[in-house]
Amino acid sequence: MVKITIDYDKCDGADCAECVDVCPMEVLIIDGEKIVIQNKEECSLCEVCMDVCPNEAVNVEE
Ligand code: SF4
Repeated sequence: MVKITIDYDKCDGADCAECVDVCPMEVLIIDGEKIVIQNKEECSLCEVCMDVCPNEAVNVEE
């Protein structure tokens, strides 16, 4: 099972949202000021969200 975590102490939220822009599966979405995870089971483990996050706030693991 995929485990996705967002460290909200590091995440810049909607002001950044780089991960939301790149996620091909729409797993990461903007909800108000926050980035939230939806439909986690759709995650393809491509890890581009981890690659683009400037704060290393996103972690994806199997
Ligand atoms: S690993 Fe890929 S599919 Fe999964 S949340 Fe990140 S960008 Fe989306």
